[in-house]
Amino acid sequence: MSERQTNYTVMEGYELPSKGRIYDKEINPHIELRSMTARDEMKRLSPSTTPLKTLADIIEGCCIEKPAIPVYDMCMGDYEFLLHKLRIVTYGEKYKLTCRCSHCLNNVETETNLGELELREFDEEKFNEIKTFELPISRKLITLKVPSPRLVEDIESKTKEMKRKFKSVNLDFETLCKMLCSIESIDGVKYNQYDMEKILNDLPARDMQKLLNNIDALTVAIGLDTIFEVTCPHCGEDFKTFFRYGPEFFRPTNI
Ligand SMILES: [Zn+2]
Repeated sequence: MSERQTNYTVMEGYELPSKGRIYDKEINPHIELRSMTARDEMKRLSPSTTPLKTLADIIEGCCIEKPAIPVYDMCMGDYEFLLHKLRIVTYGEKYKLTCRCSHCLNNVETETNLGELELREFDEEKFNEIKTFELPISRKLITLKVPSPRLVEDIESKTKEMKRKFKSVNLDFETLCKMLCSIESIDGVKYNQYDMEKILNDLPARDMQKLLNNIDALTVAIGLDTIFEVTCPHCGEDFKTFFRYGPEFFRPTNI
């Protein structure tokens, strides 16, 4: 059976938020997506310990032309952008979700238009300043890896592994693994995990906060702006809420 389908019903072209300019080599940012088939949906529903890999593979299978790099290795902003567009070409733009009014605290069932979420303007210079920066106290020069679905799942699996291995040690392994996996180099040097951990342990806490802030900032530097406004049907006030992945994303009931 062929994995690449041609019997799609809808096809749309999109431009990656990163413009293809943040990877080791420049890639073509223009991606054409076809709608998902029943087989794609069954793949999505199959149990997986790496759900982001499953989705990345489905997105890639729905690209009319295979992208120059695996979707699994694209930055989170490009990956989530393609995931939204795949949902739109497959099920349309309307998305129902439940949120809470920040004025009267009632739960509000609302419908948003996924096609109207805005794109944060990609600023290459700003992006590079978040990616490579100096720590405030130790003055070490840090270069971060671009956060991809693969990196996110690597951090998760490493955290689980460490928690198992060092059961009796009282430590926030999640934070440790996030730093270990996210750093590309320190002062231009690539370290093995053991040496990197030694360096991280001795960092001033303020340096660690700067490191964590930049890791988080790099994740959201590119991609869709997930904030949108809702008018509360209970009190009539407007409030802002975040886009969240809910059951309606790939299982819309209003078909
Ligand atoms: Zn309200």
